Amino acid sequence: MAKRSKYVKPEHREVLSAEVQASKRISPNFVRVTLGGEGLAGFTAMGYDQWFRLFTPGQDGTLRLPTSTSSLGWYAQYLRMGKLHRPLTRNYTVRDYRAAGFGEFGSTAEIDIDFAIHGEDTPAAAWANTATPGSPAGLLDEGITYQPPEHAEFALLVGDESALPGIAGSLRSAPRELKGAAYIEIAHAEDAQELGEPEGVAVHWLVRTDAHAETGALAADAVRQAEIPATGVYAFVAGEQKMAAGIRRHLAQDREIPKADITFTGYWRVGKSQG
Ligand SMILES: Cc1cc2nc3c(=O)[nH]c(=O)nc-3n(C[C@H](O)[C@H](O)[C@H](O)COP(=O)(O)OP(=O)(O)OC[C@H]3O[C@@H](n4cnc5c(N)ncnc54)[C@H](O)[C@@H]3O)c2cc1C
Repeated sequence: MAKRSKYVKPEHREVLSAEVQASKRISPNFVRVTLGGEGLAGFTAMGYDQWFRLFTPGQDGTLRLPTSTSSLGWYAQYLRMGKLHRPLTRNYTVRDYRAAGFGEFGSTAEIDIDFAIHGEDTPAAAWANTATPGSPAGLLDEGITYQPPEHAEFALLVGDESALPGIAGSLRSAPRELKGAAYIEIAHAEDAQELGEPEGVAVHWLVRTDAHAETGALAADAVRQAEIPATGVYAFVAGEQKMAAGIRRHLAQDREIPKADITFTGYWRVGKSQG
C-alpha cells in the first residue's frame, strides 16, 4: 500500500481576507456564518473535510492578519503581534463553498461555516453570534484529512457536533457507490442536518438526552455496538480529543483495523481553550 501522508495540503496557500455576508442560527446549537468578499478568489475548494484557520478581530477590535503561511511562520507572527492586537484564531471546516457567481449574498465566492455553539460566551461562539455583514475575517487553508486507502470498501465516520461539518463534507464529496456508516453525536434532535450522503451509507444521529453527559460517550458506545465488516474498513474519527483517541483505540485493538486506515483528530479538549 502506498504510504499516505496525514494531510492533503492545498498546493498554493496564502492568508486570505474575507468579509461576513450573513450570520444565522440554523438550529438550537448551530450558527452558520457565511464569508465572502474579493479575497476569497484565492481560495481553492477541495471538498471533503477541508479545514482552515479562521482569524477574527482581536481584543482591540481590529483584524491583523499574519502573512506567512508556514505553520511556524504564521504562528510566530501571531505571537509577535502581542496579546491586545493578535487576532482570535480557531480551526473550522468548510461546510459549503459556492464559486463566484453562484453565491447567495453577492457576486464573490462564499464559504459557509457551521459553528457548534457550546456556550454563548466562548470567543468563537461570541464572534459567530455577533458577526454582521461586512465584519472582517481571514483564513488560512489547511486542506483535507479524509483519505481512504485504495483497498477500503467501507467507510466509518464518527464525530460529535464539531465534526458534523467535516463528516457532511466528506459524505457529500465521496463517490456515490460508497458503502459505510456515520455516527454523529449532537445535543438536540433538531441539530441534525441533511448530509447528502451516498445511498449505501447509513447515518445515525445520536442525541445526548442528559445535558451533563460527557460528549462522545454515546458515539463511543454506538461504535462498540456497530456492525462493521471484518476487513476493508477506513475510519474517520473527529471531535472531542478523549472521544477520538478512545474510539481509535477500540477500532485498532478490538476491531483490528490497521492504524494507517484510521484518520483521527482531536478537534477540542474538555476544559481547554484553543486560544
Ligand atoms: C480541523 C478542525 C476542524 C474543526 N471544524 C469545526 C467546525 O466546522 N465547527 C465547529 O463548531 N468546530 C470545529 N472545530 C472545533 C473548534 O475549533 C473548537 O471547538 C474551538 O475550541 C471552538 O472555539 P471556542 O472559542 O468556542 O472555544 P475555546 O475558547 O477553544 O474553548 C472554551 C471552552 O469550551 C470548550 N469547548 C471547545 N469546543 C467545544 C465543543 N465543540 N463542544 C463543547 N465544548 C467545547 C473547551 O473545552 C473550553 O473549556 C474544528 C477543529 C479542528 C481541529
